[in-house]
This record gives sequence, C-alpha cells and structure tokens, in this order.
Amino acid sequence: MNKPETLYMIIPCCNEEAVLRETARQLKNKYTSLIDRELISPESRIVFVNDGSWDQTWQIIRELHEKNPDFFSGLCLSRNCGHQNAVLAGLMTVKDICGVTITMDADLQDDINAIDEMLNRYYEGNEVVYGVRSTRKTDTFFKKFTAEAFYKFMKAMGADVVYNHADFRLMSRRVLQELAEFKEVNLFLRGMVPLIGFKSCSVYYERRERFAGESKYPLRKMLSFAVNGITSFSTKPLKLITTLGFIMSILSIIAFIWSFAVKITGLSVLGWSSTICSIWLIGGLQLFCLGIIGEYVGKIYAEVKRRPRFIVEEFLSDVGAEFINGEKDSDHA
Ligand code: UDP
Ligand code: MG
Repeated sequence: MNKPETLYMIIPCCNEEAVLRETARQLKNKYTSLIDRELISPESRIVFVNDGSWDQTWQIIRELHEKNPDFFSGLCLSRNCGHQNAVLAGLMTVKDICGVTITMDADLQDDINAIDEMLNRYYEGNEVVYGVRSTRKTDTFFKKFTAEAFYKFMKAMGADVVYNHADFRLMSRRVLQELAEFKEVNLFLRGMVPLIGFKSCSVYYERRERFAGESKYPLRKMLSFAVNGITSFSTKPLKLITTLGFIMSILSIIAFIWSFAVKITGLSVLGWSSTICSIWLIGGLQLFCLGIIGEYVGKIYAEVKRRPRFIVEEFLSDVGAEFINGEKDSDHA
C-alpha cells in the first residue's frame, strides 16, 4: 500500500439539491486536511454520482466540478438506476484510476470524521473497512426497530451481513477488481463485499439525522430491499418451504387418522367450519409458497437477460476521463 494513496469517494445522489453544497463543502475541508497530513494524495477526488435526479442535482455537481476540478468529479447515469447501482457505477468507473475508495451517502448521515480512522485501518493492511453505526440515538423508534429487525431477519434467513453496517465503507483497488467479477444484476453490495473476503475490519461511528431533504427509503422500499437481500444470498426460504410441506403432510396424516376414528365411532357429522378453515389455510400457504418460489424465478429471469446494471451518460473529471471513455463499451455495460 502506497502512502499517501489516491482516495476516490463515491457519493450517490438522487434529488439531493438540498444537501449537496453542504456535503461538498464539508468533504472538501476533509480532503484538504487529509492531503495536508499526507494521508491521501493530491490526486484524490470526490465523485458525485447523479442517479437520474429530476431536480438541480446534476447542475450543482457540474458547477462544483467546474469551480474545483481538483476536488470534484461527476458521473451522470442515463436514468434512475437505484442506490446500489449508482454506487456500483461509481466504483466501476474509478476502479482503474483510484488507489482506494470510500462510498458514502450524500445526506451527511454518516460521520465524515470516521474517514481518518478508515484510512488508518487501510494503511494497517485492511482491504475492506466497514463503517458501523454504534448507536441509533437520532433515529425514530420506528426506523430503529425496523432497521434492527431487518439485520436480524436477514441473518436468520441465511444472508450474512455486517450488523448495523450500511454502505459507508472503504474498499481497496484490489477489492474493486474482484468486485468487477461479480456479474449479478440484482445488486446487494452489503452481502457481496463480505463474500470477496480479504482482511477486513470495522470502524464505529454515530449516525446522524439527515442534514436536509427527505429519505428515499420509506418502509415499502426497505421491505423490498430486505426481500432482495435474502433472495439474492440465500436459498433458505426454499428450504423452509420443503420443511413446511413436510410438517403439513404429517398434520394431514394425523387429521386423516382423526377423521377416520371419528367416522368409525359414529360421530361423523362434523361442522363445515373445520373444513372451510383448512381449505383457506392450505390455500393461503400454497399461494405464499408459490410467491416465494416466484421471487426466485423472477430473479433468474432478470439475471439471464444480463441487461446493463447502469449506463453512464457523462463523466466529468480532470483525470482519467479519456481512459474511462475509451473503455466504456467493454467495461461499463
Ligand atoms: N439514492 C440514490 N438513488 C436512489 C435512492 C437513493 O442514489 O434511487 C441515494 C441518496 O441520494 C442518498 C443515498 O442513496 O445519498 C441513501 O438514500 P437515503 O438517505 O434517502 O436513505 P436512508 O438513509 O433514509 O436509508
Ligand atoms: Mg440517508
């Protein structure tokens, strides 16, 4: 590991006009101090990835780049591809020009002062450094409860993720080269990065409230994110269906014996309610199980098509842009 290393930060932005200038200001100060202390090289850049915003986000990014090309770069995707794809787009764009990367949200919820410690950990030989929230003091009870349930449920379902770690993480260039070999369309970076391996560690920080603007992850999106995480990393739900089917078969044998016993004792006139209940129960269970299988089939469908995970419209950068554009066709699809 060279010291000082070239750090590229990847910041996904979807409609972040309310916070972007403040984020840029704070990050620029951080970079200046890191460069002064020779923790990162002066070639280091901050890359804002515009994920199909429909507000002033891209104009602001362009302006930041024009004023300070030696700090800010911009990557514009052709449309909204989602948070995970936007992060990947940024990482894949810089994978050959950076020494190390840190991904972070644009809303300043992650503590930028944790960057120093992340870099120190990197220089100690860690290829991946996970930013982990130590407390959730500022989250509402509901957010805290749903988020913690999310990690526990993920683990129970066989998708092992780092507890309380979102997408604030440092990855070395070497890890990025390996990440480029993961061709899946259904992205869940938190599950993928631990699979890459290498020496890793965690850095703890306090997560704050959003600086401004609104969360783009309401409960509905969180739920679909959880389902995506589980079905991308584990076939445990499919195994649970088999277990459930087995239990139901045993129960039905018991029910059969019971009904037979009732019949021979002459008490065969039973109410229809029990029949109706079991029909509804079995029907519901079957539909639920079919739904789980459908989730996997749907994923296979998306995977076999191999559509591009993101399309880059423009890359604003004072270094490496020609290089990136030259490789665009083969590498960025
Ligand atoms: N984001 C994105 N594309 C999307 C949704 C979100 O790039 O389709 C970005 C967003 O701009 C932010 C980060 O992903 O930088 C996390 O989003 P948010 O803060 O809304 O999620 P939360 O922290 O509430 O879970
Ligand atoms: Mg946020």
